[in-house]
Amino acid sequence: MTAAAVPFVDGWDFVQTLGEGAYGEVKLAINSGNDEAVAVKIIDLKKAQDAAAMDLIRKEVGIHKMLDHKHIVKCYGTRKETTHQYIFLAYASGGELFDKIEPDIGMPPSHAQSYFRQLISGVEYLHSLGVTHRDIKPENLLLDGNNILKIVDFGLATIFRHKGRERLINRCCGTPPYVAPEVLVQEPYHAEPADVWSCAIVLVAMLAGELPWDEPSDGCQEYCDWLDRKVQLSPWNKIDTIPLALLRRVLVESPEKRATIATVKKDRWFVKPLPFKRRSSSSFDNSPLAKRLLTESGSIIIAVQDRDALSVTQPEPQLNSSCNEISTVSVDNLLTHACLSQPVEMDNMLLSSQWMNTPATTQNMWQKLVKRMTRFWSSKTTEETINEITKVCKKFGHSVKQMSPGILTVSTTDRRKNSLVFKVCIIENNSSDNQRCLVDLRLSKGDGLEFKRHFMKFKKSLNAIVTKQPSIYGTEVTKEN
Ligand code: ATP
Repeated sequence: MTAAAVPFVDGWDFVQTLGEGAYGEVKLAINSGNDEAVAVKIIDLKKAQDAAAMDLIRKEVGIHKMLDHKHIVKCYGTRKETTHQYIFLAYASGGELFDKIEPDIGMPPSHAQSYFRQLISGVEYLHSLGVTHRDIKPENLLLDGNNILKIVDFGLATIFRHKGRERLINRCCGTPPYVAPEVLVQEPYHAEPADVWSCAIVLVAMLAGELPWDEPSDGCQEYCDWLDRKVQLSPWNKIDTIPLALLRRVLVESPEKRATIATVKKDRWFVKPLPFKRRSSSSFDNSPLAKRLLTESGSIIIAVQDRDALSVTQPEPQLNSSCNEISTVSVDNLLTHACLSQPVEMDNMLLSSQWMNTPATTQNMWQKLVKRMTRFWSSKTTEETINEITKVCKKFGHSVKQMSPGILTVSTTDRRKNSLVFKVCIIENNSSDNQRCLVDLRLSKGDGLEFKRHFMKFKKSLNAIVTKQPSIYGTEVTKEN
């Protein structure tokens, strides 16, 4: 790899940008001595211009610090400086949940069930503390190295119950396809049913690979069709009757009549033991994406294949306790032996401020360890790759800007005419002829599933330069106990 990591606190290097949002970025920091990893969310306070935005940041910090649950990403600490707020988080090395969802297909129901149970467990914990997340969606659900689901992004979280007294929520917030109908109406609403609704939309995305509507309002035909019980239409016709029955109990317009977490947990599908079996005639298994994953980045398919041999009564395969790889198909030795651990000692990071001006992106070998499905290897040099990418973007009518060396920002609109912005980072690799650079796409703004659809189209158009490589490593779905 060409570029060196940039130290930000003695012994800690920022090695990659993991994600970005409205107010800043999340970066991966690695301790060069012991390979401990931490995700640092950096909020640019200059971008939070009004009191309401500052209030949300204060809440995010305050709320996240008090949370401690298996399905909530751990917050090690926070630090505030004049212009930036830092939140130090456990690094979720398994990537985002939406990486597991194949557009228009979804994922095997047993995997969806496992993730859904974990999500409900995390949300139940939040509600037990009187906290509502208000932006539950696959992009805010990450996976750790053992494929345990972790809820992130408490940027819209708030307290709805304090000392046993509930307050109604006034603010209309969240992401339109995931929000409950009452959130869109200008009236106060109860927090808990609204979060439960969003969980159900995540379940639809996992089972069908698409979102049912742009927003649950009268003006939206797909939503009206659902209210009219037209379940013969997509996405409902892709979902088995038993999980569909659960969705019918949750996606109920009236929050009072909507299933609660307690009732969801007793639901027939929720409690049903599902064997981790390949669906024999499944479109998922036969899909082009699935086949590609077998030979390229692999995480989903390796998971499915491992599970194919298992029934629920068999013991779980043994994971290497500190690493997340269970597969043997590593790209190179570096990756086979590399593993990240969570930090034991965070004090130096929490106290130091010498790393304020770290450049936005640095790359080294750790870059490869960041699991993301939206990436591929190119057989061309960085310059040639950038030229090819620029041509493809122009062909699609996307606007493309080179922000800094090796980083392009691509802007377009999705099928719903919503803005979709993603970054393309080209990282040079000197070690192999047919893997000259890694092309890594990261969503900056817009819907995760739409981003993935664009990625697939984009990659197909660049077929001439894409090289076929085995997976970095695979993981499997961990069953919820
Ligand atoms: P938005 O404005 O879109 O809500 P945000 O600035 O609030 O974004 P987050 O949603 O918290 O930021 O994180 C953005 C992205 O960074 C996530 O979608 C994820 O890809 C990555 N990310 C966040 N936290 C972690 C973590 N602990 N480990 C690994 N990746 C992370």
